[in-house]
Amino acid sequence: MSIIKDNVRRILTELPPGVELVAAAKTRTPQEILEAVEAGIKIIGENYVQEAAAAFSVVGLRVKWHFIGHLQTNKIKRAIDIFDMIETVDSVDLALEIDKRCAAAGKIMSILIEINSGEEEQKFGVRPADAEGVIREIVAFRNIKLEGLMTMGPFEGDPENSRPYFLVTKNLYDQVKALSLPGVDMKYLSMGMTNSYRVAIEEGANMVRIGTKIFGPR
Ligand SMILES: *Cc1c(COP(=O)(O)O)cnc(C)c1O
Repeated sequence: MSIIKDNVRRILTELPPGVELVAAAKTRTPQEILEAVEAGIKIIGENYVQEAAAAFSVVGLRVKWHFIGHLQTNKIKRAIDIFDMIETVDSVDLALEIDKRCAAAGKIMSILIEINSGEEEQKFGVRPADAEGVIREIVAFRNIKLEGLMTMGPFEGDPENSRPYFLVTKNLYDQVKALSLPGVDMKYLSMGMTNSYRVAIEEGANMVRIGTKIFGPR
């Protein structure tokens, strides 16, 4: 029995009902990803379009593909051919470019807005105070569908350190949901990684992105 399969089954058993597991697959081979899929993974998260294309050519349409990295404008065209959701939209400009490309391709792309919940300079994401304004602008874009929020939080250390960031993002999620904006379906709150997913779920995450605990150290 492979370690990857074991890990996936253990995590799936542990997660409460209603929490979606995204296998964060950066640097993993298509073969490793395939093992995770065979053990029950339904969503693959990829940070790099090129790497995703290689994995997609092996694993294909038996899973959903989420983009969880920083999307450069020149990669959007390729990205919309592969991904079912872009979790990391962090500006009106990026949303506009995705919308244009999707219009040309005759697609509707599901997106999440990435929130820079720690307001850290070095991280991507929309600052909490700017989120409502950004969202009100992008609801006009017909070829994207806003389905929730995503945040990173601190990478390591005590998972308790992540709790305030998750709380900020959950409050924002509830606030946006309460606006009932036309065309917006707030249903996913993507937060928590290997070190922090338990705390994230306690704070309301219903989508967790786990890499190391599935595939081992990178
Ligand atoms: C790598 C990554 C993860 C998973 O991180 P682990 O600590 O390996 O679980 C989650 N989300 C994003 C955006 C990532 O880049």
